[in-house]
Amino acid sequence: MQKGNIGVTTENIFPVIKKFLYSDHEIFLRELVSNAVDATQKLKTLASKGDFKGEMGDITVRVALDKEAGTITISDRGIGMTAEEIDKYINQIAFSGANDFLDKYKEDANAIIGHFGLGFYSAFMVAKKVDIITRSYKEEAQAVKWSCDGSPEYTLEETDRTDRGTDIVLHVDDDCKEFLEESRLSTLLSKYCRFLPVAVAFGKKKEWKEGKQVDTDEDNVINDTAPLWMKKPQDLTDEDYKKFYRDLYPMSDEPLFWIHLNVDYPFNLTGVLYFPRIKSNLDLQKNKIQLYCNQVYVTDSVEGIVPDFLTLLHGVIDSPDIPLNVSRSYLQSDSNVKKISTYITKKVSDRLSAIFKNDRKEFEQKWDDLKLFIHYGLLTQEDFYDKAGKFTLFKDTDDKYYTYEEYQTLIKENQTDKEGNLIYLYANNKEEQYIYIEAATAKGYNVLLMDGQLDSALVGLLERKLEKARFTRVDSDVIDRLIAKEDASETNLEAGKGEMLSSVFRSQLPQLNKVEFNVETHTLGEAAGPIMITQAEYMRRMKEMANLQPGMAFYGEMPDMFNLVLNVDHKLIKGVLADAEKECEASLSPIEAEIRGLSARRAALEQVQKDKKAEEITEDEKNDLADVEKKIADERSKKEALIAGYAAQNKVVHQLIDLALLQNGMLKGEALNNFVKRSIELI
Ligand code: ADP
Repeated sequence: MQKGNIGVTTENIFPVIKKFLYSDHEIFLRELVSNAVDATQKLKTLASKGDFKGEMGDITVRVALDKEAGTITISDRGIGMTAEEIDKYINQIAFSGANDFLDKYKEDANAIIGHFGLGFYSAFMVAKKVDIITRSYKEEAQAVKWSCDGSPEYTLEETDRTDRGTDIVLHVDDDCKEFLEESRLSTLLSKYCRFLPVAVAFGKKKEWKEGKQVDTDEDNVINDTAPLWMKKPQDLTDEDYKKFYRDLYPMSDEPLFWIHLNVDYPFNLTGVLYFPRIKSNLDLQKNKIQLYCNQVYVTDSVEGIVPDFLTLLHGVIDSPDIPLNVSRSYLQSDSNVKKISTYITKKVSDRLSAIFKNDRKEFEQKWDDLKLFIHYGLLTQEDFYDKAGKFTLFKDTDDKYYTYEEYQTLIKENQTDKEGNLIYLYANNKEEQYIYIEAATAKGYNVLLMDGQLDSALVGLLERKLEKARFTRVDSDVIDRLIAKEDASETNLEAGKGEMLSSVFRSQLPQLNKVEFNVETHTLGEAAGPIMITQAEYMRRMKEMANLQPGMAFYGEMPDMFNLVLNVDHKLIKGVLADAEKECEASLSPIEAEIRGLSARRAALEQVQKDKKAEEITEDEKNDLADVEKKIADERSKKEALIAGYAAQNKVVHQLIDLALLQNGMLKGEALNNFVKRSIELI
């Protein structure tokens, strides 16, 4: 019997492996089963070259659990190992600088394993002792047993074994008993080994007999050795693709469409990507693209390997050319990974473009589900815009679809403002903005529906990308000023009358949390409504942006500014004005006379001080002016109070304000109740 030390330079590597790779303990199974598969594949290769002439026989890899003995055994009928090979491949692993390396990559188990070919040694993450019982395929080979209890010492002795192949026996550590649960192992096998190219059996298939589950004779094969992505597209039907998708994501809806990837130069990559139907944000987080390396599952975090926006897709990517033994940040600078990313982006945009060209109708039908991906791509990937800009669609409030180019042509005539800007009108809620949409369409404008999650960011992008484009939400101004054609006709009311109207309405506006109103009067024509609420585009966008960016929370805290627009052409508003003037005239005229007198005095004082330098103005003169100003302010307050007192009694004013609020979903609770009561009284 041979005894010796494993060629590990670090005194005791196993506790280190255990400690640092703690979070990824479960990968031991992947490593050992894929070694078994490799050994089987190697034998097949030898056979195909005529270097192995024996019977292949049953080459199923078996995983067996013995709860009582506390062992997991992975068996294969592959090439096996001679004593010399064990020495070479298992004992003399090069571990120079292992500590440094472990320190550097302690977060990333795959890195360490890939780097050191640590595959086999990952067994020690869960086992206190590991046996290898193996016999080489070579004729007359002597079977050997290797044992190691986790210290760098091992034993190697001859043993009896007639069959070629290898058994790896893990004596599971006390703190890893979870791996002795059948369900746990079964879950791990289906996660990591589901598509391995050689059959892997975990115990036997079970059946119900006399109220109990009993083993049948049939192997419980857990994998699909020829997964869909390894097949040729021409041999596959739509149903095959859909079925594979259902197998991968059992809870998901049918995918929109899929792309079969297959390259062998300048890198190797196969896979199938699906465009999913996204029902909720939850779906996005739950279902991910799975990355494989020669059919061995590696990870489902593909960030850095596929472009960001494509991480929203589903499916499988299999490539031996993605370096797994490096950190994520290095990954992004790897030239193969860059090429892969570019390739996938191109494939995706080519496919979308083909569907768009060949079957525009289908493309439009799927647009609502597709747009999230495409918009995300446009926003995050410069070169994607160059391609996708040609088939990205706008949808209007009548559910018609246009490409960017088509839309430009559509609105050029009617929606160019006096500065030559093309004004894109949009709504983001068809219900809430109904009246504004109505007003705009009545005027012959087209209104886009931009109700997607990324639309507000998209608006910013399109204003930069599309020529002379300005986006304006339909409720951002009164219809005549939405697209400024010629210099807007200003309100033809005398200044004093506008002020009176504004005071009447302003004084009766409700106090809403974080909402401020600015009252404006405009001549909108007799046909237009009497009152409406608008919100300036730039104000709203600033708040929207602030809500997206944590650093700008300050703007987010600012109140929402709305305009309450009074149409002075409307007979109700005219009526309010006439009534207010009549009712308030008697009490207002002395105040106004007073204000006029005070204003004249202020003008005189200012005239005197105008030509003097600051230091020449006497204290008295300063006091006089301040005094007059205060008096004017007092009189004005009196006037406001008087008007407010009048307006408080005016049911028409309240009714109008409430209607405006109601149209914007801002009338709630008690105020809504009051409105209903008042309306009933008025009827
Ligand atoms: P890697 O698989 O990355 O080379 P491992 O530590 O997993 O590293 O294995 C080291 C070597 O041991 C393998 O390359 C192979 O030669 C040999 N080996 C491991 N498992 C088996 C097995 N089940 N049958 C035959 N040889 C094996």
